Amino acid sequence: MQVPFVDLRAQYAQLKAQIDTAIHEVIDECAFVGGRRVSEFERAFAEISGAKHCVAVANGTDAIYISLKMLGIGVGDEVITTASSWISTSETITQTGAVPVFVDVDKYFNIDVTAIRSKINDRTKAILPVHLYGQAAQMVEIAKICSDTGLLLLEDCAQAHLSTFDGQPVGTFGAAGTFSFYPGKNLGAYGDAGAIITNDDELADKLRMFANHGSLKKHEHYLEGMNSRLDGIQAAVLLAKLPWLQEWTAKRQQNARRYDELLKEIPALTVPQIRQGSGHVYHLYVIRIGKRDGLREYLSSNGIQTGIHYPRALPALPPYARTGFEREYPNAIRYQHEILSLPMFPELTHEAIDYVVTCIAEYCGVDTGNTYVIA
Ligand SMILES: *Cc1c(COP(=O)(O)O)cnc(C)c1O
Repeated sequence: MQVPFVDLRAQYAQLKAQIDTAIHEVIDECAFVGGRRVSEFERAFAEISGAKHCVAVANGTDAIYISLKMLGIGVGDEVITTASSWISTSETITQTGAVPVFVDVDKYFNIDVTAIRSKINDRTKAILPVHLYGQAAQMVEIAKICSDTGLLLLEDCAQAHLSTFDGQPVGTFGAAGTFSFYPGKNLGAYGDAGAIITNDDELADKLRMFANHGSLKKHEHYLEGMNSRLDGIQAAVLLAKLPWLQEWTAKRQQNARRYDELLKEIPALTVPQIRQGSGHVYHLYVIRIGKRDGLREYLSSNGIQTGIHYPRALPALPPYARTGFEREYPNAIRYQHEILSLPMFPELTHEAIDYVVTCIAEYCGVDTGNTYVIA
């Protein structure tokens, strides 16, 4: 049996007629950049995300950069963020002229809220938590730290569409939340795409201006900005897919429950730990295991694709590594060698999950018997 890590074809097969028609309409109208589909998608995504405004941009990395810039982050500032993320989170901080200050992760793979306060100093301007793999960070604690200290709060929700903490949607706890619609994300375009959500009217206007050369009206440039707009074709694809996002998310969650149930019989590995209050939309299903590389090879030789997100924690990457980082970020550094992302997408079948678990059990020397079959 072959089990891919993700299967982008499955969603296209499901919605082929709508997506093909929508793309052709954009081409017929020559509405290539911006336009009514972009506005329609912004309204729909704001609504489903529980926010007042959504500003569509070219990708999830720009979404972070634009937000940081319009929140006034720049030279001389520090922004506290997590040691485990995709590099967009930290490289955009540096691009503004500010310095990323990393905090180690906890067993939920998210920023360790108990370690944040000790990193705050006079230069600290903002906290940028990431809802890694789709699980919300401890947002009540983080929002409290921000309100106690006057720091800005920006959430990187690139992996966490529709996730919540204590029932509140991610991206709505602070000034703004940023999303990516990279094809493999929980809501994926057919190219690069991203968005920012906010409840702040004034910030929404600034974000929109900055993403479009500092302009809200043609040839009136209030400030210098950048070109980071959403394509009409991407908006059309996203609009066709958006009505399915809740159902696809529920399927990811069901798949995760099945993995959880079956994998808990295998003592050598740790299934994803869920924090009290945290919603998890399972962009990735990440286990921890000591003999990770051996398991990965064994699965690969049995037709199962897996991933590592990410092989190196941010403080271990060349742009950031400085002496002693291993001692400063013990969890993030240890997890680099233990984490393994198993196949996860809405259309993943029960048979495929059972097969993945059987192969893991074999590798771990656990007798599968029939214990891995749930009625
Ligand atoms: C994907 C991702 C981004 C960047 O999004 P792009 O659309 O690829 O630019 C930022 N942060 C995290 C955590 C991501 O997973």
